[in-house]
Amino acid sequence: MDRNTYKLLTPGPLTTTETVKERMLVDMCTWDQDYKAMTQEIRRGLLALAHAEKSGYTTVLMQGSGTFGVESVLSSVIRDTEKVLILVNGAYTKRMCRICEYHHIPYRAMEVPYDEIPDAGKAEEILKTDSTITHLAMVHSETTTGILNDLDSIAALARKYNKKFIVDAMSSFGGVDIDVPRLKITYLISSANKCIQGVPGFSFIIADEADLKQTRGTARSLSLDLYDQWETMEKDGGKWRFTSPTHVVAAFHQAMQELDREGGIPARHERYARMNRMLREGMERLGFKPYIRAEYQGPIITTFFYPEDGAFDFKDMYRFLKERGYVIYPGKLTERDTFRLGNIGEIYEADVEKILAIFADYRKETR
Ligand SMILES: *Cc1c(COP(=O)(O)O)cnc(C)c1O
Repeated sequence: MDRNTYKLLTPGPLTTTETVKERMLVDMCTWDQDYKAMTQEIRRGLLALAHAEKSGYTTVLMQGSGTFGVESVLSSVIRDTEKVLILVNGAYTKRMCRICEYHHIPYRAMEVPYDEIPDAGKAEEILKTDSTITHLAMVHSETTTGILNDLDSIAALARKYNKKFIVDAMSSFGGVDIDVPRLKITYLISSANKCIQGVPGFSFIIADEADLKQTRGTARSLSLDLYDQWETMEKDGGKWRFTSPTHVVAAFHQAMQELDREGGIPARHERYARMNRMLREGMERLGFKPYIRAEYQGPIITTFFYPEDGAFDFKDMYRFLKERGYVIYPGKLTERDTFRLGNIGEIYEADVEKILAIFADYRKETR
């Protein structure tokens, strides 16, 4: 039975399977052995997805949405005597800057237009002249616009200059293959409700264990203390500090199994990329221009400008689509009016065809 009256074209929360939702019908106890074992299985499974099972990495699960994970890392691993260079080309790296301001964490921002990817050469110029920088931070898939930043070139730069490397892979991990040890990422952050297709409620951090161990006592917040959370999980075999989102954890456990059954990250990536291409090309045929040029477009979400011909009102279009079974996402740019279509979650060809037909009808009515 499908209880949903509409599907989400938003990049998290997203449309999950019935079987993922069903796992939330069971109540569990946080200190129970079965629950702790499930947490440990998730932690191991995440390492496997990151190609990091046997290479000095560990996983920490953290209560809260994705931002809690990002804030946990930034506020727990960078000392007052250190400094992070943040490569800003969207709202999520801007948010990283705000987090640093809240906690008085030394940072420097390299600002890039939102439709461009941060260039490793330009970042290198900064690293050459500012020797106080100890960490490099970026977003992989910028959900603000849908741009996919070049992880490889920035990772190579971090390795060359021996900087610790923090990656917000919130909307890419699980949907885009990331070899964490090969890239030598120090901290990778993602969350339950994006490409692994769980429901919202916790974030997770894949961490270089040796580096994490050195951060003890650095945290600026009790609830978000990454080291302390990790230590409890390690010492007590999967025990979270404080109440954990048990139903969400169970749903995530199921979602990880379903990712595996789909064929793992390669199969999921292929589906996302295909859906994204279908959607982007179909929308272009209907006269909707994408904000990000094709070579930079990631497989998760696409930003479209409002069409210049015909009346166009976001709220009106939103209602039109919702009545026909799909919910879309407003834009997040300040300079131009845009809207976004996410294609992660349980979205398949039949959905994309339907969505395009609805947009075609809407255009006919408003042009
Ligand atoms: C979703 C997301 C986040 C976290 O957002 P929350 O609303 O806190 O879950 C952070 N960065 C990126 C790139 C995201 O897509």
